[in-house]
Amino acid sequence: MTIFERRAIASPPGGPLIDSFGRAISYLRVSVTDRCDFRCVYCMSEDMTFLPKKDLLSLEELDRLIGAFSKLGTRRVRLTGGEPLVRRNVMSLFETLGRRIEAGELDEVTVTTNGSQLSRFAAQLYQNGVRRVNVSLDTLKPDRFTHITRWGDIKQVHAGIDAALAAGLKVKINSVAVKDFNEDEFDDLIRFAHGRGMDLSMIEAMPLGENIGDRTDQYLPLSLVRERLGHTWTLEEIDYRTGGPARYVRIAETGGRLGFITPMTHNFCDNCNRVRVTCTGTLFMCLGKDDSADLRTPLRASDGNEPVIAAIREAMTRKPKGHDFVIDRSTSAPAVSRHMSVTGG
Ligand code: SAM
Ligand code: SF4
Repeated sequence: MTIFERRAIASPPGGPLIDSFGRAISYLRVSVTDRCDFRCVYCMSEDMTFLPKKDLLSLEELDRLIGAFSKLGTRRVRLTGGEPLVRRNVMSLFETLGRRIEAGELDEVTVTTNGSQLSRFAAQLYQNGVRRVNVSLDTLKPDRFTHITRWGDIKQVHAGIDAALAAGLKVKINSVAVKDFNEDEFDDLIRFAHGRGMDLSMIEAMPLGENIGDRTDQYLPLSLVRERLGHTWTLEEIDYRTGGPARYVRIAETGGRLGFITPMTHNFCDNCNRVRVTCTGTLFMCLGKDDSADLRTPLRASDGNEPVIAAIREAMTRKPKGHDFVIDRSTSAPAVSRHMSVTGG
């Protein structure tokens, strides 16, 4: 093979990924495992059946797949799950992705975690080029935390946050707003996060996954939360964006940022720049739709990237304009039957 032929393969023809609505796809979320050490009530049922290990892509295959996306214009990757930090040897994936950052193939690798393993891994994450982590924490009360995660210990998460900050990672706290559960804690969560220099984002509970109970019991519109917060705090509009769906305000009293992720009350699909891959190599073009593409077969079909790149391009022609989540008394079925832990939040 001549050097020119090699170059032609390195930058595949057809340009970067643009879907049929003209949106450039530059952001990839990868769920590296469907397993988790918690069972948050809005995310998983208590008796989850997890995927057999043989169905999972190996960490080397996940790295190859992310490499193929980077050749198609993906610049930012977020590893999620399930709980990404419980996957065995996951640091080796962060290590290879760190090399991709060094080589200029990626701008950023981030991780969304429940924080339970962060005290073990924070320093290694930083060494491997990770600079930002999202830690999910819905309550500051130890007993409530154990209830919502079904058995988690909040002390582990606090230790994880401490370790992340000490390692130099920027931490954002994500809290799902759950009706009648943490409604009275939003002011305390703001004080906690902003007091330690962390952003806070609130998330609307989405109707994902079966056997999770009545969604109308969990759903709290953030439009209402925002209005209530306005009685205590001065919320200043800012145009800060991280490339994700959160819309931010600054709280004048703390100087910190508060994000609202509102898939239910405000559909943010027009600017969607992302797709999601699961740990089995299934590509979901939209979090809120069932349509998918199998990338594991083309990935395994060849040592080269051509088959998988062709499959990704074909899937992109099917990326829908948007999702249509509904939670009301007449719509009790989930919008999609897979759990959030499969696709990754
Ligand atoms: N285990 C990690 C964690 O909890 O951060 C990563 C995966 S988790 C699925 C990612 C995010 O999705 C978490 O912030 C979690 O609170 C959120 N989440 C899970 N199920 C949700 C649902 N039904 N609606 C809204 N957010 C959800
Ligand atoms: Fe696990 Fe995260 Fe789902 Fe909670 S939200 S069960 S920590 S994957």
